[in-house]
Amino acid sequence: DSDNNDKYDFLFKIVLIGDSGVGKTNLMTRYTRNEFSTKSKTTIGVEFASKTIKIDDKIAKLQIWDTAGQERYRAITSAYYRGTVGAVIVFDITKYESFENCRKWIEEVRENAPPNITITLVGNKIDLESIRTVGNEKASTFAKEYGITFFETSALNSTNVEKAFYDHFSNIYQQTK
Ligand code: GDP
Repeated sequence: DSDNNDKYDFLFKIVLIGDSGVGKTNLMTRYTRNEFSTKSKTTIGVEFASKTIKIDDKIAKLQIWDTAGQERYRAITSAYYRGTVGAVIVFDITKYESFENCRKWIEEVRENAPPNITITLVGNKIDLESIRTVGNEKASTFAKEYGITFFETSALNSTNVEKAFYDHFSNIYQQTK
């Protein structure tokens, strides 16, 4: 019941960052509702989604915020980052430019988000392996350079989505100890 849903040990707010079209909204809906849409996000219009998970016998309420298109105008304000403990930076493995822009996104996050924020890099759309332009090794080396964890996912067929988010939230949880 709703009373039970409101009992939690931790509330973790995270943001999804990255170029438009890389799959941020669909990663969020796949993870929180097991839903995927081929339509553009204007028709979805979700600002954030919640989910409750168990980590280490503790209940963590997760709030995952989508940029709702703000990234198009490069106008992600520090208000968006208020209270966030994590940022998942997403690129599309078939769009090299979206990978190159991750450097900028990471720096943006480090400038505007609270210090000690946990960052995870995600290369999405691995179901499109045949038209991949960003090599796994290349992205992996890049992530190591920044000391962040890297996952490849598919919001379309669910590959690694659960795993990437769980790892992200586990890292956030470790910081609370
Ligand atoms: P956002 O702008 O970053 O939020 O991206 P969206 O979630 O709106 O996705 C942009 C487009 O990519 C949509 O047409 C999605 O259906 C598609 N898409 C998202 N994730 C995947 C994926 O893992 N694989 C494939 N093939 N398409 C995806």
